[in-house]
Amino acid sequence: MTLYQTPIHQLHQMRLKGEVSTQEILDSVQARLTATEPALKSFLELTPERAQVKALEADQAIAKGEKVGPLMGMPLAIKDIFNIKGTHTTCGSKYLENYISPYDATATLALDKAGYGLLGKTNMDEFAMGSSTERSAFGATRNPWNLAHVPGGSSGGSASAVAAGQALAALGTDTGGSIRQPASFCGIVGLKPTYGRVSRWGMVAYASSLDQGGPLTKDVTDAALILGQIAGADPKDATSADRPVPDFMAHLETGLKGKRIGVIRELDLNQCNKEVAQCFEANLALLREEGAEIVELSIANIPHAIATYYVIAPCEASSNLGRYDGIRYGLRAENTHNLQEVYEESREQGFGPEVKLRILLGTFALSAGYYDAYYLKAQQVQNRIRAQYQAAFAQVDAIASPVSPTTAFKLGEKMDDPLQMYLSDAFTIPANLAGIPGISVPAGFGANNLPIGLQLLGKHFDEARLLGIARGFERALNLSLPNLAI
Ligand code: GLN
Repeated sequence: MTLYQTPIHQLHQMRLKGEVSTQEILDSVQARLTATEPALKSFLELTPERAQVKALEADQAIAKGEKVGPLMGMPLAIKDIFNIKGTHTTCGSKYLENYISPYDATATLALDKAGYGLLGKTNMDEFAMGSSTERSAFGATRNPWNLAHVPGGSSGGSASAVAAGQALAALGTDTGGSIRQPASFCGIVGLKPTYGRVSRWGMVAYASSLDQGGPLTKDVTDAALILGQIAGADPKDATSADRPVPDFMAHLETGLKGKRIGVIRELDLNQCNKEVAQCFEANLALLREEGAEIVELSIANIPHAIATYYVIAPCEASSNLGRYDGIRYGLRAENTHNLQEVYEESREQGFGPEVKLRILLGTFALSAGYYDAYYLKAQQVQNRIRAQYQAAFAQVDAIASPVSPTTAFKLGEKMDDPLQMYLSDAFTIPANLAGIPGISVPAGFGANNLPIGLQLLGKHFDEARLLGIARGFERALNLSLPNLAI
């Protein structure tokens, strides 16, 4: 395996044994990035000098015999929704094209403490609204398995970068699937932690009651490693949870024997392409072979999850995006004559069509006379879904499903049909509504060289168990990857 495709935990062992230096690791990743970036367009900003400084620091510390943590000097990519002081944070929007972060997000600051090297900020759908990264104001990212296809979204730049070996791992955010779905489309691991597990401070807000940051990695062990670093209570984010952070690495090799894995009766597998449904059946068979018990269970309101999400998310987005007023930061329209025109023109020029659509939907649903019928109703359904998951987790250790009904679709295929794009989130959205953790693990390959993922969901704050089950599956499947298209 080339260095740029090797998981961080393995590279770290190699460098402790003196088999490789951090500089060699960085050189391998950097050369790969330079060679593939013109075709993939995973990044919005590159910061090679930052990564270089950190690699040097790591090698110097190793030479001096100091204790070096696994992330020290390792080159990572960060979704352009996280503020990192001194970098642009565009959130994929023309509105923030020239915005330079004056402060650091808590999650990236935590990685900083571990000594990681920032390679750059990755492409995404504007304000994280989308499932394909085609909604970036700065052009689409490509899927490294097949360049005619999307990498998924909204964290598509992060997923494509990790899959292609342009970075060893990345951070993304997941409001309705934006870590898990691109991970699945790109054949890597993506973990959405429990809502509140990772601070949202410094992450540009989309739908605040659903947003959660997390890692996209080459394997489950690296996901555990990074989660351990970024998890924890934060006084700057009142919704971050004051819960002990377990050693996620310690529970990884517990195996699948005796584990109870739920399958949701109401989840309509007929929505899936044949190859995705077949892969899922094969995955369940493998789980059984490994000693897990498959248990059918009910989440009765799951058929309403998409409709619920597409009320709640736009409502919160319309409120959150009110801060872009042409005055405080970001774009300010020129040649305006009064305050009203500053607001209107700045927003008109700065936001793309999908963002405008969601602001309109959200503003409508929140307006007087409609609030009870839409937002309040949606919250009631959300509460039911949450309660149904809680009841389900009294019976099972994890719940399995496909991540997405299809493999990565072609660029342009769903751009003119927002409903089709929204429907593709059917399997990922429920976890956000319930606030529970979810992980996407590579599970097979379909036609056109495109990966398929398995989704596993866990109960609130039980990422340790979830990661152990995901690792058990990963080890049992031992998927050998075909060649990337690039
Ligand atoms: N695709 C979903 C949306 O467009 C989810 C996006 C996300 O998780 N950020 O809202």
